Amino acid sequence: MARTIGIPHGLLFYRYYPMWKAFFEALDYEVVPSHPTSKRTVRLGTRLGDNELCLPVKVFFGHCYELDAEVDVIFVPRVVAVEKKRYTCPKLLGLPDMVRSLELETDLLAPTIDLRKGRRQFRRDVEAFAVELGASRREAPSIVRTAMRALDAHEERLRAGEHLVLPEPKDGKPSGMTVGVAGHPYIIYDNQISLDLIRRLAERGIEVLVPETVTHPEVDRAVRDVPKDIFWTYEREVVGSIKHWVDSDAVDGVIYVMSFACGPDSFMHTVVEDAVRDQDGERKAALMTLVVDEHSGEAGMVTRLEAFLDMLERRKAVVPA
Ligand code: SF4
Repeated sequence: MARTIGIPHGLLFYRYYPMWKAFFEALDYEVVPSHPTSKRTVRLGTRLGDNELCLPVKVFFGHCYELDAEVDVIFVPRVVAVEKKRYTCPKLLGLPDMVRSLELETDLLAPTIDLRKGRRQFRRDVEAFAVELGASRREAPSIVRTAMRALDAHEERLRAGEHLVLPEPKDGKPSGMTVGVAGHPYIIYDNQISLDLIRRLAERGIEVLVPETVTHPEVDRAVRDVPKDIFWTYEREVVGSIKHWVDSDAVDGVIYVMSFACGPDSFMHTVVEDAVRDQDGERKAALMTLVVDEHSGEAGMVTRLEAFLDMLERRKAVVPA
């Protein structure tokens, strides 16, 4: 019987799940993702996680707990870097250690992912990991190629925005407004954490842009004039996407969603504020920051969202495109 591997539906799941699914299936594992985040997942994660942790990490704990004893092993990689010279958040570096402290019944599979030495070395590392899991040395390269092809296809879908399954506007009409929703994928695509923000915008006929639809060269160009290099990969993407949208007049406004207790975002917030201004410090686009935590309520968020969208509509009426 195939061994089962549980993949928690949180954090970098949104970026890399298809790659790891293809990888483990090629190794004859049965891949079991946990369900999308529910209120129960948030409750469990909040109970398990220390108060000081950000909500996405607590939610990840909830997902691990939901998989515990349901699978043979849970996949929790230690993601150090996904490109040269830049790092992920320290919480992603320490994730397996934090999950181990929960003392789950199920063992973890926790390889280190570190692309500081480039993609070739990464391939070799993943091949070695495949061999550790039972592949022969001859099979390993083709298993890794299959996984990388799945990742490429997934990234293409993300760039084309195909992952956003949006409802039709409630009144059947597009509003003519475009809003950029910026934040980590595990916040903006998790309907429970983001309180369904993207769906709410789409229902009002608003076109939604997300960071994954911005290409790497566009991000690189956009952050060129940020005074200091941003060494956190995902924060750089968020800032670069916002700057790209604003510099190219692609959006009427930006909603920046961050988690309470997020270390990197607490630094990046002022950089995001600057990203929506021109060189003279004038605001080029409206910005609303939403800080989410386990206590975020729908009513408060809806009130702020309505006020922001009304303001954008009035602004558009006064200053038409
Ligand atoms: S970047 Fe922020 S939200 Fe994401 S895992 Fe790190 S601390 Fe949490």
